[in-house]
This record gives sequence, structure tokens and C-alpha cells, in this order.
Amino acid sequence: MAKVHNLGFPRIGSMRELKFAQESYWSGKSSKEELLKVAGEIRKINWNHQKSLDWVAVGDFSLYDQVLDMSFTLGNTPQRARDYFGDELDNYFRVARGRSVDPKDAISAAEMTKWFDTNYHYMVPEFDATTTFKLNPTRVVAQIIEAKNLGFNPKPVIIGPVTYLAIGKEKDNSNKLDLLPKLLDVYAELLEVFAEHKIEWVQIDEPILVTELSGELKKAFEVSYSKLNTSKLKILLATYFGTLEDNLDIIAKLPIAGLHIDAINGRGEVDSVISKMSGKVISLGVVNGRNIWKSDLNGILDWLEPIAKKLGDNLWIAPSCSLLHVPVDLASEKKLDTEVLSWLAFAIQKIKEIEVIAAAINFGRAKVADELAQNQKSLSSRRSSARVHNPAVQAELAKVDSNWGKRKSNYQQRQAKQDPILNLPKFPTTTIGSFPQTADIRSARSKYKSGELTESAYQEAMRKEIVFSIKEQESLGLDVLVHGEAERNDMVEYFGEQLEGYAFSQFGWVQSYGSRCVKPPILFGDITRPKAMTVEWIKFAQSQTSKVMKGMLTGPVTILNWSFVRDDQPRSASCAQLALAIREEVLDLEKAGIKVIQIDEAALREGLPLRKSQWQEYLDWAVGAFKIAANGVSDQTQIHTHMCYSEFNDIISSIADMDTDVITIETSRSDMELLDAFDNFKYPNEIGPGVYDIHSPNIPTQDHIISLMKKAAQKIPAERLWVNPDCGLKTRQWSEVTPALTNMVAAAKTLRSQISN
Ligand code: GLN
Ligand code: ZN
Repeated sequence: MAKVHNLGFPRIGSMRELKFAQESYWSGKSSKEELLKVAGEIRKINWNHQKSLDWVAVGDFSLYDQVLDMSFTLGNTPQRARDYFGDELDNYFRVARGRSVDPKDAISAAEMTKWFDTNYHYMVPEFDATTTFKLNPTRVVAQIIEAKNLGFNPKPVIIGPVTYLAIGKEKDNSNKLDLLPKLLDVYAELLEVFAEHKIEWVQIDEPILVTELSGELKKAFEVSYSKLNTSKLKILLATYFGTLEDNLDIIAKLPIAGLHIDAINGRGEVDSVISKMSGKVISLGVVNGRNIWKSDLNGILDWLEPIAKKLGDNLWIAPSCSLLHVPVDLASEKKLDTEVLSWLAFAIQKIKEIEVIAAAINFGRAKVADELAQNQKSLSSRRSSARVHNPAVQAELAKVDSNWGKRKSNYQQRQAKQDPILNLPKFPTTTIGSFPQTADIRSARSKYKSGELTESAYQEAMRKEIVFSIKEQESLGLDVLVHGEAERNDMVEYFGEQLEGYAFSQFGWVQSYGSRCVKPPILFGDITRPKAMTVEWIKFAQSQTSKVMKGMLTGPVTILNWSFVRDDQPRSASCAQLALAIREEVLDLEKAGIKVIQIDEAALREGLPLRKSQWQEYLDWAVGAFKIAANGVSDQTQIHTHMCYSEFNDIISSIADMDTDVITIETSRSDMELLDAFDNFKYPNEIGPGVYDIHSPNIPTQDHIISLMKKAAQKIPAERLWVNPDCGLKTRQWSEVTPALTNMVAAAKTLRSQISN
């Protein structure tokens, strides 16, 4: 008999109950007991959804982040949080977010970064030469006992030692891998504790195995798992998010009892996994844990049935990865278009899918005939729906040729034509697009959504905001103005809502970090743009000022990377469709007389595959799509793009290939370190390295900005530099923005007088 299990469940609750409980606790409005009560209720509900499985996942629940949980379990608290005599949970939140309830307890928060190629952010473990570990199993043991008391069969889930070290960061010049022996002692102790609690299987997550491993890390796997090879309990080594490739040879040698692989990405590897792991449990992740589509159950069974015959009791069936990355429950959606709704599956529905697959494998398809027929029906409706397949879009795509992605002339020739039109000083100043989303703006929007405010009243309110931000920018003396994005709730949702081929859920939240959740729009069909999306707003803004107004768009790659996308065509194909829609918008803005157009690609880097060997292929189609969107304009129109990350040394040539006239990027936090990329690569066009860290409430001084710009001028000729913040100012307040931009403009003026060329 095949077994069924799950790797992890979303912990936010179907109505984001955890978020509200966390935030209420942090603001001092509710007690620790109340927070823990909500947490316990969510766990119970989650386990109930998994009750027909052979095990429930335990330890996947977290009050903030599972990696931070692991750090606390291993006793690897950062030095600055060690001599705290307060409550342990408060100390945990201090590390997570800089403070818990009491502002007097503030310390600097741990760094946060993306969990592999997902949009989930984890708290980066910190290491140095003096790092020691000490087991604290309280949290996970309490959850094991809790699950047992409720009548569930627990399978604890922990992050494996090699991944834990690999995703952490050395705070000094030491090598974190030197810590492995000490770390393994604590892992071994933890497994002992599990064994004492009569645990049969432990799931140890090592997703680092789907990336290219250094020799040192490969060795670390051998060392780790031979040390953890106790006969007292069985280890299921779990990998996900990609393929194993040659790392399978390392895994095959490890003394583990079972291996979970992502059979969505790695279906092609399953045969070799089975032959190399013979006699061991093979857990196949056959339901996609990263998207929101119903699985093709019959298709999976056609493939899985012969494998099941071969593996017998050694086959386990699961989602490809933890369901943390999908929303909780489709049943909450009352407003979604019913046709689209019938194509979707969220976490609870995905659990149901693996149950049906397992029932069909163990008892024959007839046993679940109704479920399979229902599934078949949804799938064929999706395959044949006219809302998914639009021949006009295909026809338009067929017209695209290589000239669509190319500007008519090179940068120098364009610049010569743009200069007299734009008439900008040296070190021109601008901002990245958004101005503070004030309480007034948010309340107008929510009144408009609830019907309390008419469309025209809402638009009038937004126009007032635009006028206000333009007056501010004029009095600050900025050179290229923006309209401030007051009318936009979110830089992707705003466009998705206006494009055909997109659907929006009401409760499709996914945890981004801590209490922060995002609700990615659902790209389900061929994309078209029924009408211009931003032109009226930008035209209005331009009519309010004699200065140059920058039109503001989100680029195709960012829209793609921040959406749930189709699984019935490659990402590159969806991206090309988005590119055509944005291209039409760009051309309409140009026609409306807008001279500068910025196309944000904040998420370009996020789409990079986990394996470096696949980067170029992604960059080729992603940059290609951007160019189609941006480069149809005449030489006179100035194209900007914006990116929100500082590490781009490794992709700089692709960025240069986008051929935008100006790029603005985040740099201030790295103290212009990013510009090291320009030592070896001569970036050909104009660049605005951010000089104001918008993530911080601090006001940058004029001197600081000047010193950053001078550093930049050592690498990039001064005549090609712009002066701007790191990113949009949407999350800040005017009381911070006005003085910061005052200093920024003053710094630009000083630079103009000091640096001549
Ligand atoms: N134009 C957007 C803004 O200013 C860019 C946001 C981003 O890069 N994340 O808010
Ligand atoms: Zn940004």
C-alpha cells in the first residue's frame, strides 16, 4: 500500500488569523496566552485537514519563520539577543523584527532573504567563529505532544544541517562549515529526543540539494547523515523546488530511510531515483505545491500506477513541497468567477487531491470515480475555454520580429535628440514613482471598493493627491516629476486588474514574512489590454506642471514573477504576452506626449533559476520581453527602468542589454558597493544609484548623499549619473520624505557646482 503525507501546511489561517493575533500581541493589545491560543487553534484545524493522511506534519507551524524556529531550537541566537532575561517568545520576536512588544527592548533584527526561488522570506541564521549550539527542543516537542493528544500521528519536520548552514551568513571571516561537527551534535540530540517521544519518521528538509553544490557542501552531506544515522528513527530526506541531477549520487550513498523528491520539476529523474535508491522509501511530490491549479489526476495516475507496482509499500505520495506557498482554502472564495474557480486548488484542495491519488493507487480508480470524473471535467473546461485561448493574442505574437525589441538608434544618438527636449541639468534629480500612501488615500480606496464613494468622487480624490504631490515636487525643486501612484493599490495588481486574462481572489493570501502576506493575482488566460491603463492619469499629471512628467509602468517580468501563472504554457510565453500589453501602453503614453517613461522591473532578479547553469536561458527571454515592452518608442522618448536590489554584478551584461536610457537601482544600503560591478563592466547608459534608503525612517544628510554620489562618480562618468532614492516612497510619511528630498536636491546642486567635466 502506498502511503500519503504532507510536507507542511500554511500557518496563517484561512482568514489570516495568525497575522491579526501576532499584530495584536506586538501592539500590546492582547496577551501572549491569546496569541498562543490562536496558534494552537490553527494547528488543530491544519491537522484536521490532514487527518486522513498517514502522518501529519508537525513543527511546520511557526509564530514567525521556520528558519528562525530552527535557530532557536539549535540555540543559535545572535550574540546581541543572548543576555536577555525577558520572555523567550519576546526574545524570538526581537530577533525576528527588531523588537517584540516593548520598544525599550529593541535590537537590530536579523537579516531577511528569499527562501530559494519562492516569495517567502526567512530570517538568515548568523554565524561566526565563536558560534556554539545548544539544544532547545521545547517548541517542537510541545507540538508533538499536542498532535498526539489530539489523536494525530506526528511526523516532525526540521530543516537539515547542511541547508541550515548553507543559507546562513558568516558575520566574520570564519567558514561556517567549520561549525558542522558542533552543529551535528545538537541535531543528533534532537533526533534522540524525537525517538524518546516514539517518533517513527522525521522529515529533514534539505532543499539545498536542488542547487549546484560546492565540493565542501557535498562532503558535508556525507559527514552529516552518517552522524545522524541512528537506528532509533527513520529519516525521510526531503528535497524540493527543482531537480537533483548529479546530487542524486551523493544522496544515494547516504544512510537514510527515504527520500522525497519534487516530481513536478523532477519527473524525468524519477526512474533513476528509483534505481539508485532501491529498497528505500520514495516519496513523490506529484501535486504542485507552488501553484494554484487543479492537478490532472488521471494524467498523474497514468504515470504513477506502473511506478506504484514497482515500489509497493515503499511509495509515498505527497505535494511537491510544503503547501506554505499556496493560499489556504478555495472554499472561502465567494466572488471569483465560477469558471476560473472550477480550475483552482488551494492547500486544502491539494491535500484532497493527494488523498484521491492515493485511494486510486491503493484501491483502484473505480473507488474514486466521481472525484476523477469531476476533475476531468474541470480540466477539459480549462483546456477549451475561450477565456484562456485567444487567437488574436497568438496572431499578434506571431507578428513579433527581432526589431520590436530594438531602439531605432543607439544610446548616444538618442541622447543627442533627448537632451534638447528634456533640458535637464547635470545630476538630474527624480524619484522612483510612488509618494506616501497616506491614511486618506487608503480610506478613499476602501470606500470606493465598498461602494461608499462613487467612481468619479474617488477619481477626484486621487487627482487631488496627484496635484498635491506635484506641488510638493515643484517646491522641492526636483527635475523629473512623477504623479505619485496614489491611485495604485499595488504595482502588479493595478495592472492585472485592467488586463484580460487575470483573476483576483479575495482571500488567496500567502505568507511573505512574519505577519506580512501577499495575494498574488492569478494569470489564467491569454493577456490583452482592453484599453489604456495609465494614460489619463499621467496626462492629467503632465497638464499640472511645466516640468517633465515621468509615466510609470510595471514591466512584464515583474508582473509575471509576482503572479500565480499558467502551467499550461512556459513562463516565457506568458511573459511575452504581458510584454505586448505593456508595449501598447508605452506607445499610448508616447502618443499622449509623455517624454519620459519608466518601466519598473523590481522582480527581474527574483525569477533567476536556482541553478546558475539555467540563468542565461531565463535572462534571454526575460530581457527579451522587457525590450519588446520598452523599445518600440522613438529616439526622442526617454526610457527608464528601476530595479530594487543591489546584487547585480552577475547579471549586469543582461541589464545593459535592456538598453534603457536610464536605470535607477537600490544602492544606498550597500554604500555603493554595488558599483564594483562597474570596475569590469563599462555600463554604457545613464544610471541613478539610490542615495536614500527608503526602508529606514532616517533622513539622509546632504553630506552623506554627496559622499555616496562622489563614490559613484569614481566608477561612472558624472554626466551619466542621476540622483534619486533607492525605491518608491509609498511606505514612508511626508514628514520624512520632504526633508529627505530637500537634502537630496541640495546635494545635487552642490555636486553640480563641485564636479565639472
Ligand atoms: N514605481 C514603484 C514605486 O515607486 C516601484 C516600486 C518597487 O520598485 N518595488 O513604488
Ligand atoms: Zn524599488
